[in-house]
Amino acid sequence: VRKRIIRAEKMEVVSHLAASISHEVRNPLTASRGFMQLLEQHHLPLEKRKEYIRIAVEELDRAEAIITDYLTFAKPAPECVEKLNIKTEIERVIDILRPLANMSSVEIQTSLIPLHVKGERDKFQQCLLNIIKNAIEAMPNGGLLDIYVSLDKNNVLIRISDTGVGMTGEQIERLGEPYFTTKGTKGTGLGMMVVYRIIESMNGTIKITSEVNKGTQVCVYLPLIQSLPRTSSSTRKEKILAY
Ligand code: ADP
Ligand code: MG
Repeated sequence: VRKRIIRAEKMEVVSHLAASISHEVRNPLTASRGFMQLLEQHHLPLEKRKEYIRIAVEELDRAEAIITDYLTFAKPAPECVEKLNIKTEIERVIDILRPLANMSSVEIQTSLIPLHVKGERDKFQQCLLNIIKNAIEAMPNGGLLDIYVSLDKNNVLIRISDTGVGMTGEQIERLGEPYFTTKGTKGTGLGMMVVYRIIESMNGTIKITSEVNKGTQVCVYLPLIQSLPRTSSSTRKEKILAY
């Protein structure tokens, strides 16, 4: 039984997200191209031919996985910082991941409140996607995904819990380190690095608690911004009651 906590500050890594992507995607594309060129050889035994095709496809899948970890919500227009309703954003990401959850018989349970934080919408959604996708992938034989929102002093707390494979202390330590993955060729080891960078850019923190074969809890804390516009106290009260 191991429990550890880490914080977003730990990872002060590298530059801007967008700059990393072409670099990350180019490697698997080049590798895939190389194996396809090898296929041109005459007299290549069938076994070799099959192996090269398998590797080329694997590399293409890797390029796709990297794009998923970085760019699922990217749009052509430059992003701006706006007021985000975390309930709406979480629901959007759950909709996208529901088919993946269904494939592994993962039940999704939520308790969400419409609190507001400041950030770039695409990045915030990407961050939620990467955390929630990991939670689902940790439960290949089914389980419970629980997403819970509450207020913790002046912070919004988003807690994402799974009943999956869990992590050892050493694995938690390495979380967010580029290319650290336990998923073999299916993993990129980039998802959590992206998460840490986004949370950091939103002045938030992240805490992870995990127990092997029991599950993992990821707690994201983000500064709350007021949901209601500043008005006179009487109208303000009415609005709160209406809400
Ligand atoms: P990837 O998902 O491509 O492996 P990530 O950076 O998203 O890369 O995650 C890195 C590693 O952290 C995973 O391979 C896994 O070992 C571990 N991990 C992350 N989230 C969880 C979780 N909810 N439960 C168990 N292990 C996790
Ligand atoms: Mg991942």
